[in-house]
Amino acid sequence: MAQQIPIVDYLVLDPPHLEAHECSSCSSLYFDRRNACAKCGGTEFGRRALANDGEVRAFTIVHRAAPSVPAPYTSVVVDLDGGGVVKANLLDVTDPEEIVPRLPVSLDTFVAGVDDDGVEAIGFGYRMRKDIS
Ligand SMILES: [Zn+2]
Repeated sequence: MAQQIPIVDYLVLDPPHLEAHECSSCSSLYFDRRNACAKCGGTEFGRRALANDGEVRAFTIVHRAAPSVPAPYTSVVVDLDGGGVVKANLLDVTDPEEIVPRLPVSLDTFVAGVDDDGVEAIGFGYRMRKDIS
């Protein structure tokens, strides 16, 4: 199997899931590293694995993008089960008729690119749960 690296450092590959920094005082979640919590000012953080399942809170279908980005694609905000909110793409869906309120989705990963040494960059997005099961 090719060597793989995640496209963002909050994506863990084995097994695939997202991991956030969690404020030790108020449990607020952040994907990026913080010196202090924006909500309570706390400075202690732990790591927390987030659920792979969630529901679409909002979406927009993007029809114009940079020349290297295939369009249209669907950008979503996902409320993850058990806490955490993430912005990502809804994979393989660009028909707004298919997207219902609180659409159940699950994390999926894909090869986003390969460098000259064969190392694969792994990206993530969400799929409608009915397409997975
Ligand atoms: Zn806090």
